[in-house]
Amino acid sequence: MSCLFCKIVDKEIPADIVYEDDAVLAFRDINPQAPNHLLVIPKQHIATLNDLSDADAATVGLLSVTAAKLARELGFADSGYRTVMNCNEHGGQTVYHIHLHLLGGKAMGWPPYSSTLKTAIG
Ligand code: AMP
Ligand code: ZN
Repeated sequence: MSCLFCKIVDKEIPADIVYEDDAVLAFRDINPQAPNHLLVIPKQHIATLNDLSDADAATVGLLSVTAAKLARELGFADSGYRTVMNCNEHGGQTVYHIHLHLLGGKAMGWPPYSSTLKTAIG
């Protein structure tokens, strides 16, 4: 298995791990887009959201539950935060092991595309 995030799960590649249990791992993004930018991943390899089956519902739900707990522990739950899961090319997915981005510690804009693109799509 050559998956980058599976290697982080297996501790073959170092990461700044902030939470771990039997099913989930959370670590700091190497290229943070906010003062707190964590990736919450299932230990089980699932390549994209398109690969989910009904049996994965609890696993994926744990990603959000874990993100909310971490936001509380890290002190930005009340000020607010964003969670994002990107799927495939148009979603901006670059690592093909599903992950929930947890971004907090600053106010973020919405919608999440540039004004240039907004003009282009009307
Ligand atoms: P995505 O573009 O949604 O697939 O997100 C992948 C994220 O993984 C990006 O935000 C990267 O900065 C992050 N990333 C890539 N390699 C590593 C790594 N070795 N440790 C931590 N984060 C990483
Ligand atoms: Zn993987």
